[in-house]
Amino acid sequence: MINFPYTIPHIAEILGLKSFKKMKQVLITKLVIDSRAVTEPEGSLFFALTGKRDGHKYMADAYANGIRNFVISDPQYSQQYADANILLVNDVLAALQKLAKNHREQYNLKVIGITGSNGKTIVKEWLYQLLAADFNIIRSPKSFNSQIGVPLSVWEIQKEHTLGVFEAGISKVNEMDVLEEIIKPDIGILTNLGEAHAEGFSSAIEKLNEKLKLFKDTELFIYAPEYTEGILKDNLPGKTKFTWSLKEDADLQVLFIEPVDGQNYIIAKYKGVEISCLVPFNDQASVENAIICWATLLALGYSPEQADERLDKLTRVSMRLELKNGINQCSVIDDSYSADISSLAIALDFLNIQNQHPKRTLVLSDLYETGKDNRILYKEIAALLKQKNVDRLIGVGPNIMASKGLFPMETRFFESTQGFIESFPSLHFNNETILIKGARKFEFERISKLIEQKVHDTVMEIDLNALAGNLQFYRAKLSPGVKIMAMVKAFSYGSGSFEIANLLQYHKVDYLAVAYTDEGIALRKGGIKMPIMVMSPEPSAFDAIVRYKLEPELYNLEILNSFIDFVNEVNYPVHLKIDTGMHRLGFEEPDLPELLNIITNTEKIKVTSVFSHLVGSEEGMHDDFTKLQIARFNKVADMIGNALDYKIIRHISNTSAISRHPDAQLDMVRIGIGLYGFDAGIKDNKGLQTVAVLKTTITQIKHIKADETVGYGRRGLLHADGTIATVKIGYADGYNRAFGNGVGRMLIKGKLVPTVGVICMDMCMLDVTGLDVKTGDEVIVFNDQLTIAKLAKQINTIPYEILTNVSQRVKRVYFYE
Ligand SMILES: *Cc1c(COP(=O)(O)O)cnc(C)c1O
Repeated sequence: MINFPYTIPHIAEILGLKSFKKMKQVLITKLVIDSRAVTEPEGSLFFALTGKRDGHKYMADAYANGIRNFVISDPQYSQQYADANILLVNDVLAALQKLAKNHREQYNLKVIGITGSNGKTIVKEWLYQLLAADFNIIRSPKSFNSQIGVPLSVWEIQKEHTLGVFEAGISKVNEMDVLEEIIKPDIGILTNLGEAHAEGFSSAIEKLNEKLKLFKDTELFIYAPEYTEGILKDNLPGKTKFTWSLKEDADLQVLFIEPVDGQNYIIAKYKGVEISCLVPFNDQASVENAIICWATLLALGYSPEQADERLDKLTRVSMRLELKNGINQCSVIDDSYSADISSLAIALDFLNIQNQHPKRTLVLSDLYETGKDNRILYKEIAALLKQKNVDRLIGVGPNIMASKGLFPMETRFFESTQGFIESFPSLHFNNETILIKGARKFEFERISKLIEQKVHDTVMEIDLNALAGNLQFYRAKLSPGVKIMAMVKAFSYGSGSFEIANLLQYHKVDYLAVAYTDEGIALRKGGIKMPIMVMSPEPSAFDAIVRYKLEPELYNLEILNSFIDFVNEVNYPVHLKIDTGMHRLGFEEPDLPELLNIITNTEKIKVTSVFSHLVGSEEGMHDDFTKLQIARFNKVADMIGNALDYKIIRHISNTSAISRHPDAQLDMVRIGIGLYGFDAGIKDNKGLQTVAVLKTTITQIKHIKADETVGYGRRGLLHADGTIATVKIGYADGYNRAFGNGVGRMLIKGKLVPTVGVICMDMCMLDVTGLDVKTGDEVIVFNDQLTIAKLAKQINTIPYEILTNVSQRVKRVYFYE
């Protein structure tokens, strides 16, 4: 008998708790770790995990979102909510894992466990594509493979599932034992093993042994001998084994791989005969992952013909949601790779983070393979859409159409994608955020094509998760209570406007700062409710500042007086800038008596904060001056603070000061370039993630004879016969002319190639002699390997300039996992 949903006493029993605070009878179906991502509050159990952040601090938020059931470890929170069920444990993470382990033990479906350094998620998603015809599959959402992700994935197993496919990832010893107990795989797959260096482990072999623990009780183990070197076959796990190899004799021995028209034809020896398959990919990693899937199908007993037929239909999986500009001032989130409830919930959360438009629309197809009865399924979806503030639903497909009556919002329904396309003009998309989510067979790319603005071949991709990761990196360095102001001036250092600001608002930074009033207005129009400081508030814009509730930086007596003259309010928030050595903007020492006199004699403004700016926080050679600036600032801030009868926020640290001068955090820090992945104060930006990737494409290839020249002014002279690729980026896009004549390099297929001749306005030329390239190939201008820091060095500037120079003509595409 399967016990589901769970009662609170039952959960307490599983967790071995003798007593707990039980107020209400409830049935738990959902486990929640993020107070913001709540779909069904009544049936949710919140785990106050204590990792980088203390989950107890988010209980109030979860409570406000309707949650009344909590697992906590800090007793001081146990009496907080009179009507809540509270389970007090020693270790919240261990409790989550224990619950998932117990859940898993209730079901006897077949389970595939996957681990390895690379390819886990792709192999998992592809096995789902390959096996969905024969099984009702539950799989880890996205790349949920951690100590937290695995229990959350396994918790989703329901009685109708006949196959589970779960991935596990580890970063130190003894982590796999826990994951093994939760996943309990019958079949194990070891994917690619990466670099020999093994961070978190004493050796590569220790790391491999830890990974192999996942498979200790498996019936069948699928692996490549080249990735298990150093361990005798007899000591490997698995009652039976199935090997694949590109190098040696194996159950599936790959003999050769031949590229044909962007696909790869693979020939292998299997049971003594040659077999083959065609995989629709051309990069090495995808081919290897496809071979792993091939081996798995054969090991599971599929015939070589069946395997070939299924592999041929594999589609690329993108784990990321893409946010793009759409037609008629719309923003479009494109997510048509997976169509199940959990990925829908994740996409809807992202839709909710983006507040730039007054209306949210979802285009959704029928969902398949969820293992649920249609009526229950669409009822659940309707509740989810209501909870996630969807204003309009456009449903495509007979099943969702048949459930019409369940949806309380504005709706339109179509039998098919073709029907949608024919009625497209009557749907009037305008100033809304549109989430497009459909099962593969609905070919929603036809819909995205209509709604998205055409993206030119040069795009800047912004990784919002990396940005959030960088925020967390600095947050972890702050003393308790220190606030964060995020600098989003100049289109967030070139990375975007409300898209970035909405993410920062979601991640609860305290303030945003922009340079000009217009930038602040754009953010307000983009749905930003949090305080915004404007650093150069021109008097002609005071009216707009007040109208949009922006907070001016006042930096001398003249502007202070004119703002007080202008404003007709009580306690309007302003920020005072003190010059401690930058000598750009700011009050100076002699202004102080007058300044104090003014601010203590007006009710119109309230000095929210006092701040100054450091001139060389990133460099050791300036440390003495930095200390002097901090001392000067503290003195002035004390004088102002003492003169006022309320508390002010003091701040002086920019990015590098956070990493290099922890004593200067004061009440708040101002993070700029660090959010975007650079910190001149940290060697090699260690710990930071690359946020922006700039890409373009090859427009034409030319074969040029020796002694011919390339480009304007005949500057690019070829000394030998060569091949030139023209690419679609020039100085008008922000690729500086100084990169011309071989100074700049770009990456094509992993190879660095130099520029030839001068950089033109919209194009430039690269020397691709000896490379196998063609029109349309992707060219990387900068990414995590060819970094902005390297580009800055090439032309003797700083990363800030490279990033902010990328012109607005280059379309930004945002990714979110
Ligand atoms: C731009 C700016 C910052 C941010 O500096 P980073 O070095 O990018 O962190 C902080 N304070 C002020 C006043 C700024 O203008």
